[in-house]
Amino acid sequence: MNSTSQPAGADVVVIGGGLHGLSSALHLARRGARVVVLESDVCGRHASGVNAGGVRTLGRHDAEIALSLAARDLWFRLAELCGDDAGFVPSGQLKVAENEAELAECRARVAHLQSLGFQHEVMIDACFVRDVVPSLARHVVGGIWVEHDGHALPFRAVTAFRLAAQRAGVEIHEQCAVHRIERRDGQWDIEAAGGRWRTPQVVNAAGAWAGEFARQAGEPVSVEPRGLMLMVTQALPAFVKPVLGATGRPLLFKQFSNGTVVIGGALECAADMTARQCALDFSQLGKSARTVTDLFPHLRHVVVNRAWAGIEGFMPDGIPVISRSGTHEGLVHAFGFSAHGFELGPIVGSVVAELVCEGRSTHDIDTFQIGRFGAAAHAQINAH
Ligand SMILES: Cc1cc2nc3c(=O)[nH]c(=O)nc-3n(C[C@H](O)[C@H](O)[C@H](O)COP(=O)(O)OP(=O)(O)OC[C@H]3O[C@@H](n4cnc5c(N)ncnc54)[C@H](O)[C@@H]3O)c2cc1C
Repeated sequence: MNSTSQPAGADVVVIGGGLHGLSSALHLARRGARVVVLESDVCGRHASGVNAGGVRTLGRHDAEIALSLAARDLWFRLAELCGDDAGFVPSGQLKVAENEAELAECRARVAHLQSLGFQHEVMIDACFVRDVVPSLARHVVGGIWVEHDGHALPFRAVTAFRLAAQRAGVEIHEQCAVHRIERRDGQWDIEAAGGRWRTPQVVNAAGAWAGEFARQAGEPVSVEPRGLMLMVTQALPAFVKPVLGATGRPLLFKQFSNGTVVIGGALECAADMTARQCALDFSQLGKSARTVTDLFPHLRHVVVNRAWAGIEGFMPDGIPVISRSGTHEGLVHAFGFSAHGFELGPIVGSVVAELVCEGRSTHDIDTFQIGRFGAAAHAQINAH
């Protein structure tokens, strides 16, 4: 590599080889850009490779709904986009209500979405729930159903984007942590573990670590890193097809075609950003297991085979930053997906490519501006 010689060149340098970095790289390369991805570990090592694989438009923040629906269209055409469907199964997603108060909450949500012109979330009653998931506990009174949501295999998705990007000419450097970015004479100078690069355009897709590059660009924002845990059971006979969530308590639940069941949903644990790893919190895992056995009493004696965690970056308002820098030319941010960025991966890459190549996106991304945190937030972060 080029640690002592002249910096290497590229049209765009992408920081981070997660799903968003790789999707951005692919879409940029398809537009003819010479793209380099710099990844401090290995591609997909963090949130993108270890998440629950939920392809979910259900329950999105209003600002994210249109983008998530556009992303879901791409999941149906993923094989066309990157040569593999990443194991996407349009199984449907179901959010159950366990009492009348929760059912009323679901009704209000669906009515709100309809008032915005969205019809993808529909109310269902207890009979429908039992038709879709016959083994669910009898106290469930209904819920919200999204027919075309589903799930995919995270590491396979990352690999599909990575290989497609490389076929399109993207150069990927792993074990190559970026230390510093600096704008000089209309270009970015990038110092990384594996060398130096000089480029007119940088994409900050460094996940939970992305706040550091926003700070270096003079627009600090609070990206809170949190560890999120999942566990997986022994293989069981097929009993549930859709992905399940709950209304009154955190839950994410789905069965793979090999019979194993993945359980999670806002199961947090400590994240060590320097060691780049998490410590599992078994008391939280136990709480989640109890939710599952409340809903599926027949799972009471099932064995959990494995648990793991990944580090995710959360924004204060729970929605990502997808925007051009407010301080510098040639910098686009895509980070802070706050535990629901896997589904958005395929579309965010195309938005980033639009921002880099044309300076604007055809999607409505106004709410995702980095500038929304404002000068007051910058001052507060600088004070810490
Ligand atoms: C347990 C868990 C379950 C989840 N479940 C779902 C789900 O079901 N559905 C859903 O939609 N979303 C889910 N998510 C969220 C989703 O995984 C993330 O929002 C998404 O993967 C974020 O992708 P990313 O590319 O922004 O970040 P990452 O995948 O974290 O990628 C960022 C990359 O940047 C690299 N990097 C960091 N610093 C540097 C540096 N200095 N130099 C170079 N590279 C650097 C990192 O090593 C990393 O590989 C879940 C997340 C977790 C943790």
